[in-house]
Amino acid sequence: EIVPVRRALLSVSDKTGLIELARVLAGQGVHLLASGGTRTALTEAGLEVTEVSAYTGQPEILGGRVKTLHPKLHGGILARRELAEDLAALEAQGIEPIDLVVVNLYPFEATVARAEVTFEEAVENIDIGGPSLIRGAAKNHAHVAVLTDAAQYERLAKSLQEQGGTTLDERKALALAAFAKCARYDQAIADYLGQVVGSGDGETEAFPPTLHPRFERRAVLRYGENPHQRAAFYVEPGTVGPNLATAQSIHGKELSYNNLLDLDSALRLIRHFAEPAATILKHNNPCGAAIADTLAEAFELAYEGDPVSAFGGIVGLNRRVDRATAERLCAPGRFIEAIVAPGYDPDALALLTTKPTWKNSVRLLDLGGPIGPDAPAPAGFDLRRVEGGMLVQDWDTMEADPASGTVATKRVPTAAERVSLGFAWRVCQSVRSNAIVLVRDRQLVGVGAGQMSRLDSVRIAVSKAGERAEGAVLASDAFFPFRDGPDTAASAGVTALIQPGGSKRDNETLAACDEHGMAMILTGRRHFRH
Ligand code: 5GP
Repeated sequence: EIVPVRRALLSVSDKTGLIELARVLAGQGVHLLASGGTRTALTEAGLEVTEVSAYTGQPEILGGRVKTLHPKLHGGILARRELAEDLAALEAQGIEPIDLVVVNLYPFEATVARAEVTFEEAVENIDIGGPSLIRGAAKNHAHVAVLTDAAQYERLAKSLQEQGGTTLDERKALALAAFAKCARYDQAIADYLGQVVGSGDGETEAFPPTLHPRFERRAVLRYGENPHQRAAFYVEPGTVGPNLATAQSIHGKELSYNNLLDLDSALRLIRHFAEPAATILKHNNPCGAAIADTLAEAFELAYEGDPVSAFGGIVGLNRRVDRATAERLCAPGRFIEAIVAPGYDPDALALLTTKPTWKNSVRLLDLGGPIGPDAPAPAGFDLRRVEGGMLVQDWDTMEADPASGTVATKRVPTAAERVSLGFAWRVCQSVRSNAIVLVRDRQLVGVGAGQMSRLDSVRIAVSKAGERAEGAVLASDAFFPFRDGPDTAASAGVTALIQPGGSKRDNETLAACDEHGMAMILTGRRHFRH
């Protein structure tokens, strides 16, 4: 299990911690091999080292461009110790196995970060032999340990002193770190070249073809959230969808940055529903949403939830668009900017693409496949940029049956209220916090979004709903800190609430609900969306 280290190859630009590590290695009887500069540093510290050129018989050439690119080194690193042929090849060529590779690369990133750097200097700082040694050692981690950062030295020294070598798990972890380091290194080179020489396709110079090994440029957009911001859309190859990467644009003008944002939010909302569902997004919040027996009906209810806001909205539909739905979409006085749906019937498409007042401008996206609770969950992580870094989290997934949460009040919600509460809760997840939504039956009738006080969100939702607040249910994305929210809802005629619970004043909220005869479900899960 434990692989001892007999021979180590050291070739480092950053000499931090080198001498201390080499002393431990020498103390363990490890034979040290090193490239020119590294050897000088070690010899000056009084250590015994073989210079690689003395071992290979090949002097460094081309001003250091070729130092360690030699079969006597790479053969010693890559040989499979369990394979007789490999060992015979080493023997025949006079090659000694190498069990530990210590390399850190030319400081490419630090070099190009300097304001006065020349292009030639940058190019000369592209390390060639270093990554080759690292990749070879990492590939052969079954037998070889690889160190690519001074921060790893102490741990390795300890393993040698305490267990006489490295375990397979340790070598695997080091191999992973090594490949990740090489990936970042290559990306830094690609980024630099992208900035200096462009990507080769003229107009898109600001945006490299790959922003990160994971993201490929799909489109350079006209502009970002505002006209003075440049923007592009990158996709993550290999995601299963349904999502904006797998969807096809089948009609209309090019999608804008804000269209994409709203379309994404529309998809996140409708994916929660198995029954026909429609939503209308404005400025990344739903102003309309409904579920019904048919898609046409769901869209009609969604649009009528707040027709003033819905004008110029982004529509998400979870069923193939039929003629009846297209007629509702094109009804007089309505204007839709973009639609995403799992397909369009030919007669629906004909209608949508010829409505004269839309001047052929409606953007149509075809998801290509079904969307609903059974569709695959989003892959990877939810990422968000902050200045100087990035925030990474799991996607905010929806619980299977939120309306089955704990009933906290004396009054139990009716069956109809439960349906409305479940719908309200799922819609509420897509609303910016503090989020309050009011639902009548299965139609969104009031939204309070993005307020700094939950009470203000309640007031806005209630005023949006108007008379429709009477007999409505309410969902709140996080707990009520005070009873004023439920009190306000009750005086508008709201009959039932759904919220996570968890405030230290939950009992006051509960007392308010009981006083007003309202039913309340606690889900135990919060859905902030900041
Ligand atoms: P040293 O200071 O020992 O002369 O050089 C160490 C640096 O050279 C390390 O950063 C290592 O990654 C890099 N290096 C090792 N072998 C080669 C090679 O064959 N070609 C190039 N370009 N760099 C190498």
